[in-house]
Amino acid sequence: MLRSGYLKRGHTLEALAHACGIDPLGLLQTLADYNRHAQQGADPAFGRGSTAFNRRSGDASHKGRNPCVAPIERGPFYAVKVEPGSFATFAGLKTNGQAQVLDVQNQPIPGLYAAGSDMASVMGGHYPSGGINLGPAMTFGYVAARHAAGVVAYETELD
Ligand SMILES: Cc1cc2nc3c(=O)[nH]c(=O)nc-3n(C[C@H](O)[C@H](O)[C@H](O)COP(=O)(O)OP(=O)(O)OC[C@H]3O[C@@H](n4cnc5c(N)ncnc54)[C@H](O)[C@@H]3O)c2cc1C
Repeated sequence: MLRSGYLKRGHTLEALAHACGIDPLGLLQTLADYNRHAQQGADPAFGRGSTAFNRRSGDASHKGRNPCVAPIERGPFYAVKVEPGSFATFAGLKTNGQAQVLDVQNQPIPGLYAAGSDMASVMGGHYPSGGINLGPAMTFGYVAARHAAGVVAYETELD
């Protein structure tokens, strides 16, 4: 993760800010505010731990008042860039009905299949309801496996 640049590391907060290309003073101030509240188990900025649902997803082994927040004090410090987005709205590999990956001429690449997050969503950038990732992931995984195994009858049905 570090090698690919996805994860940033700094032994100090200033070093982490430089690694991320962000203002070190801004990071120090943000973290000082966060830590001050976290010591009391509070998170006024985002309300983490303010609902039972939040708390259920928190760290059950955390000894503080709020399982969703704890002061961040000891380095090395790590950061990832968070990009807002909705499930199933991201681009992926273009496939046909047999889950075969298509080339730039829209021709299937023999032996290459995609399903799940690697496959461009059949929802075309919309998130109509829960399950819209796992449903197509399982369906096209199944379709791909059958096609790869040469199950001709099923192929014909899909055509
Ligand atoms: C909190 C949360 C809630 C969700 N809720 C829902 C929901 O209610 N309904 C729904 O439909 N979807 C939901 N999703 C989305 C859904 O879980 C994902 O879209 C789905 O799991 C993607 O499946 P995948 O097989 O494409 O990828 P993944 O499940 O990410 O599988 C990829 C696998 O590849 C492995 N891997 C990675 N790199 C390598 C490598 N180099 N070599 C070998 N293995 C590697 C990984 O370890 C992983 O096991 C949710 C996701 C999250 C995070």
